[in-house]
Amino acid sequence: MTHVVVIGAGQAGSSLVAKLRNGGFQGKVTLIGEEPVAPYQRPPLSKKYLLGEMDLDRLLLRPESFYSENGIDLHLNETVQSIDVAGQAVVAGGHRINYDELVLTTGSVPRRLPAAIGGLLDSVYVVRDLKDVDSMAPEFAEGKRVLIVGGGYIGLEAAAVAASRGLDVTLVEMADRILQRVAAPETSDYFRTLHSGKGVRILEGVGLDHLTGDKKVSGAKLTDGTELDVDFVIVGVGISPATALAEAAGLDIENGIKTDAQGRTSVPHIWAAGDCASFPYKGARIRLESVPNAIDQAEIVAENIMGADKDYVAKPWFWSDQYDVKLQIAGLNTGYDRVVTREGGGGSVSFWYYQGDQLLAVDAMNAPRDYMIGKRLIESGKSPAPETVADPDTDMKALMKL
Ligand code: FAD
Repeated sequence: MTHVVVIGAGQAGSSLVAKLRNGGFQGKVTLIGEEPVAPYQRPPLSKKYLLGEMDLDRLLLRPESFYSENGIDLHLNETVQSIDVAGQAVVAGGHRINYDELVLTTGSVPRRLPAAIGGLLDSVYVVRDLKDVDSMAPEFAEGKRVLIVGGGYIGLEAAAVAASRGLDVTLVEMADRILQRVAAPETSDYFRTLHSGKGVRILEGVGLDHLTGDKKVSGAKLTDGTELDVDFVIVGVGISPATALAEAAGLDIENGIKTDAQGRTSVPHIWAAGDCASFPYKGARIRLESVPNAIDQAEIVAENIMGADKDYVAKPWFWSDQYDVKLQIAGLNTGYDRVVTREGGGGSVSFWYYQGDQLLAVDAMNAPRDYMIGKRLIESGKSPAPETVADPDTDMKALMKL
């Protein structure tokens, strides 16, 4: 009987084993995860769960009973230490588990501050897993002073939760502007204004020099010389794909575990999906850090294990919730040379990224219709004229008839 072993019980791992069973796979399935809880959604960790508006039951992707009911052997609290490629086995907790097909869905690892600048002091947190968020939750008391390092989506979402709960929030971003790596200045401006209006102090073009404190953090010195008193620190400075296991096993690594369009790595019978995997996309190689990518790619790998012979054609989209603003992003803006603004009623707005005449991506703030139409246009390779998009009188639905 074919045995599929999956390392990493997160979004991609859970989607993959579910797809195997939905697709009628009759072999043995083992899902191994190092966390103590069944696979759960990460996005609420910096949103509703951190706000205290969602409990663990709702966070789980599937009830724990789903796995046993579907003949999936779920190993929690178990870290895979190594892969024996020649022997087709993984080693976890001192025992070997043989596989016929192995999938790596190991996700990513948050970057931390170096010890030399105070990264190991108490009350310095990252936001990656349940344990991180549960341990920082008691710090979220009204009036406490939090320093957030990094103005990407995770940092901004944490800032929104902290400000909503009455904390004193300072966010430092080393780059010239928040969201510089992922969005146009228009989107950065939108979120800077939003946060400033809620009392968040946003400092751009300023880095953290070092943290101070005796065992527990109590202060921070910034690169412009500013000194701050802080009660705790949240670090949101990006992630790295979790490739250590794959690298030690000799798999090719290129901005993540290198896969072909079907999810196969450079070693036979080993596949990869989710945050840890890079794959071909429009003549380039990319890696996406998002839930839709983790699900879609994992499902394609499951189908290919069952013999489908299907390529993964990514349709990138993402979202972020901050206060009462829902940002929805369709497409990838890499290479844009122009941004067109479309104002909607009631404070909704969307920014459309073009390269020449070609529509690449849309950032939509409280503008679900713009997002939906933009996504469909991008996926079908259609590019409405920028002037048409910018005109508030344009009927968005009509754009689909282009
Ligand atoms: P993960 O879900 O991280 O799962 C990987 C699992 O593998 C982990 O449980 C890890 O412990 C385990 N593992 C690793 N190595 C081993 C080993 N050797 N042995 C056993 N187990 C191992 N995406 C969006 O689209 N929208 C959002 O709004 C959004 N918000 C986010 C907010 C936060 C706070 C975070 C952290 C992420 C957010 N993301 C969001 C990103 C999204 O959650 C990830 O892209 C997605 O979880 C990736 O799924 P994955 O299965 O690849 O990795």
